[in-house]
Amino acid sequence: MENILVVNAGSSSVKFQVFSIEAGGRLRRRIKGQIDGIGSRPRLKANGAAGESLIDRAYAAETISTVPAAMAVAGEWLRSEHQIHPVAVGHRVVHGGPDYDKPVLIDHRIIANLERYVGLAPLHQPHNLAPIRSILAGFPALPQVACFDTAFHRTHGALADHYAIPHELYTEGVRRYGFHGLSYEYIASALEQIAPDIAKGRVIVAHLGSGASMCALHRGQSVESTMGFTALDGLPMGTRPGQLDPGVVLFLISEKGMSASNVQNFLYRECGLKGLSGLSNDMRELEASADPKAKLAIDYFVYRIGLNAGMLAAALQGLDAFVFTAGIGENSATIRARVVDQLGWLGASLDPVENGRHARLISRTGSRIPVYVVPTDEELMIAQHTLSLLRKRPSANPKEKVA
Ligand code: ADP
Repeated sequence: MENILVVNAGSSSVKFQVFSIEAGGRLRRRIKGQIDGIGSRPRLKANGAAGESLIDRAYAAETISTVPAAMAVAGEWLRSEHQIHPVAVGHRVVHGGPDYDKPVLIDHRIIANLERYVGLAPLHQPHNLAPIRSILAGFPALPQVACFDTAFHRTHGALADHYAIPHELYTEGVRRYGFHGLSYEYIASALEQIAPDIAKGRVIVAHLGSGASMCALHRGQSVESTMGFTALDGLPMGTRPGQLDPGVVLFLISEKGMSASNVQNFLYRECGLKGLSGLSNDMRELEASADPKAKLAIDYFVYRIGLNAGMLAAALQGLDAFVFTAGIGENSATIRARVVDQLGWLGASLDPVENGRHARLISRTGSRIPVYVVPTDEELMIAQHTLSLLRKRPSANPKEKVA
C-alpha cells in the first residue's frame, strides 16, 4: 500500500500523519502522531485510524534534542513497526513569502528560497525547514512538498496586501500575508460539498484555535484576513494579543527597556487570553473559571470576533454565510452562541439546540445568514496537495519508494 507522510514541525514538537492512497486517489488517514517535549521531555505518541493508541514512549532529552532527531525517531518507528515507506512527504511551512501562491515540490533551490523567509517568521520557518533538510539528506529520492499557510491568501488584491508604509518595505516583503491558509482552503473546498451555492458567495470563516484568525472568502477565494505580516495580528489568541497599536511596542522598548527578543517572547507567549486573564491560554479553563478576569478575557475574545466580522463583511460588501472551525470554533457551543449574538445585526440567528449538539448548521430556520460548524483538516489538505504534485511530476513514478 502506498502512503503519504504529512509533517507539521514546530520548535518543540513534530506532528505527523500517515495517509494511505486508496483507489481513485482517495486518501485515508491511518496514523496520527506527534513527538513533543523535544530537548526537554521527549515523548512519542501515536494513534491509529480508530483512535486506538499505537505508542506512548518517553525518550531521554539527549536522544531527541532537535527537530531532525525527532523526525528520525518517528520515521524509524513508522518503518520498523508499521512498514510505512512513504512515497512522498508533505510539510506544513508557515511562510511562502510573496512568491508562492501554491504548494511546491522541494529541491535544494526551493529550500534556499524558503530560507529567505526565516526573518519573516523566525519562530516557525526554521523549524518547518529543519525536517525538510534532514529528509532530503537522508532520502534524496523521496519527493517532498511544501504547503504554505500564506499561499491561499495570495489572491488578495493590492489594498488588502499593503500597509500604509513606504513602498521599499513592501518590496522587501513587509506585506499583509495572512495565515491559517491551509485551514481556509480546506473549509472552502468542504463548503463546495456542504452548500455549493453558498460556496460561490461571500463567507466569513472564523478559525478559532490557540491561534485564531478570520478570513473573508468570495467565490471560494480569500479576499481579506485578520492576520497580516505575522500571525500576531487580528484576533486575540491563546497567548498572542491580536491587533495592537504599534505604539505599545515602542513603549515596551523605550519605557520598559525590553529588548527585541523580550518583546517577541512577550507578544507570542504572554499576551492574549493568558495575559488578559492572568490564568490560562486554554478556553476550557477560562470557561470553567469564576474569576472576573477569565470573564473579561472571554468577553474580549467574543467582542473582537464581532468587530472583525464587521470589517470582513465590509471587505465582502455583504455576507452570505458564517463558518466556525478549529478547537474553540468546533467545540465551544457557548462561544459560538455568543459570537452569533454579535452577528445579529448582520442577520444571523442561532438555533440553540442545533448549536448545543454541534450540528453542521447551527442557525435557525429563517436566519438570513446561515451559520455552519465545519471541522478543519489541514493535514488532509497537505496530503491532497502532496499527492497531486506527486502525480504531476515530470518523472512521476508511483512505485518509487524509500528503503
Ligand atoms: P491549535 O491547532 O492552534 O493548537 P486547536 O485548534 O487545537 O489549536 O484549538 C485549541 C483551543 O481549543 C484551546 O484554546 C482549547 O482550549 C480550545 N478547545 C478545545 N476544546 C474545547 C472545548 N470543548 N471548549 C472550549 N474550548 C475548547
